Amino acid sequence: MLVGSKNALPGMQLHYQSLVTGALPLDVAIEVVKIVEADETDHSVGLGGLPNEDGVVQLDAAVMDGRTHNAGAVACLENILHPSEVARLVMERTDHVMIVGRGAYEFARSHGHPHVELLTEEAREIWMRWKESMSEQDDRLVPGPDTRQGRAASPEEAARLARLDRYLVERVTGTIHCSALALDGNVACTTTTSGLSWKIPGRVGDSPQIGSGLYCDGEAGSAGATGRGEAAILAHASSACVELLRGGMAPLDAGLEVLRRVTRQARRAALWQPGLVDERGVPTFGLTLYVLGLDGRHAGVNLLGPGQYAVADPEGGPRLADLVPLHE
Ligand code: ASP
Repeated sequence: MLVGSKNALPGMQLHYQSLVTGALPLDVAIEVVKIVEADETDHSVGLGGLPNEDGVVQLDAAVMDGRTHNAGAVACLENILHPSEVARLVMERTDHVMIVGRGAYEFARSHGHPHVELLTEEAREIWMRWKESMSEQDDRLVPGPDTRQGRAASPEEAARLARLDRYLVERVTGTIHCSALALDGNVACTTTTSGLSWKIPGRVGDSPQIGSGLYCDGEAGSAGATGRGEAAILAHASSACVELLRGGMAPLDAGLEVLRRVTRQARRAALWQPGLVDERGVPTFGLTLYVLGLDGRHAGVNLLGPGQYAVADPEGGPRLADLVPLHE
């Protein structure tokens, strides 16, 4: 079985069969997410990911293997295409769990990963339009529908700029998570991301933090998170799900229980950061959890509103399923 974020579907379609024919769940989970890491049209992960406020793409990723109960992670990794593979190297080739920043880059290079410019032309353009739209008090002009002072843009160019500007309206969050369960009961997972767009350089999200953005235990199951990393970190969201599975809860109940906890935590945090919840006390941010039990039961739960997650199982193969929202 494979369970993960919606953007894991293309990878599941390509690699589910190898899990069925006996590949290790960790191998399969990593192959699934690598598709998106290398996809420059996805602005939330790897190549083409939106950069931090300085225009630098900094990647976070982690892997965990339930068979050995070992994990590896990298954070603030620059110029490397496949952070999930580097996280795996941290797990398999060192006695550490996490390596960050320059050290992670040098570590990846020393294992043969090539230096890659991850900031694509389009991501650079979106970043520059974000900088220009930050303030009317500074010396950069707020971008209009055209950048050429008075000369009309072609309809194609105007449509392209309008598409880019959609990334300015809403903070881009993204991330890909994949949990894998093999027929022999082995479980593994990975989460990889370019993190929150325009983040403060050096910010580490939940994705590479074991227990927050992912967690699995060969005795209990697997879980992962996408969405507001700070909320997943403060709730230890993924390990909280797995602990509830261990206690006998079904994946759906476990996921919803953790989201209830996140909601209560957000209400308390809103005492000093009021925008975190609305007038009903419902969090204003997104958080999605993917939960997979060792018996193959699974769930995708969403803090707010509808959505979909990706799943692949013997009954239906790779497909999208509906998230269960906690708040409507
Ligand atoms: N969880 C990621 C982070 O906070 C972002 C996301 O999933 O959208 O870095």
